[in-house]
Amino acid sequence: MKHPQFEALLFDIDHLGHEERIALEAHLQECEHCNALATSWSDLEGKMLSAPQMEPATGFTDRFRERLVVYKRRKQERLTLSVILAILISLIIVTGFFGAELLTFVPSAISFFLKSINGLVLLGGLLTILGDFTLVLLEGITQSLPAGLLLAIAAATSGLAVIWMFSIYRFGFNTFRRE
Ligand SMILES: [Zn+2]
Repeated sequence: MKHPQFEALLFDIDHLGHEERIALEAHLQECEHCNALATSWSDLEGKMLSAPQMEPATGFTDRFRERLVVYKRRKQERLTLSVILAILISLIIVTGFFGAELLTFVPSAISFFLKSINGLVLLGGLLTILGDFTLVLLEGITQSLPAGLLLAIAAATSGLAVIWMFSIYRFGFNTFRRE
């Protein structure tokens, strides 16, 4: 066998037959060229197999992800800062336009706002109390009075309402006719 053939055997050293292996070993002992090739090849193979050196890929991914998170947070911070700045600038502009009047208006506006909130809360409370009171009253009436009497009261109320409406209508109609 010549050099190129042994070189080919070298690159497929794990799948050699018994005779091929013996022939190769014999050649390696007498040929410096192929011997050197064999050593450098096995060195290279060893380096490729000690793969941990290829690991940095995951580290790189982590670092990239961290950098992305930092970038997003900075973007968020910049956005918040610009919103605050915009509010401040518009406040300054508004104050510049309306001047001292606005500054005296602000406290009264705040107190008016607070008062109206108080009023709404008070009104809500009153309505709730009134509603509860009406409910309790109605419950008391319906429980204490017999059904027939309730019907009579309902009929009387409806009748009164009809009479009242009719009187309003007649009064309005009469005044309209007299004029
Ligand atoms: Zn050789």
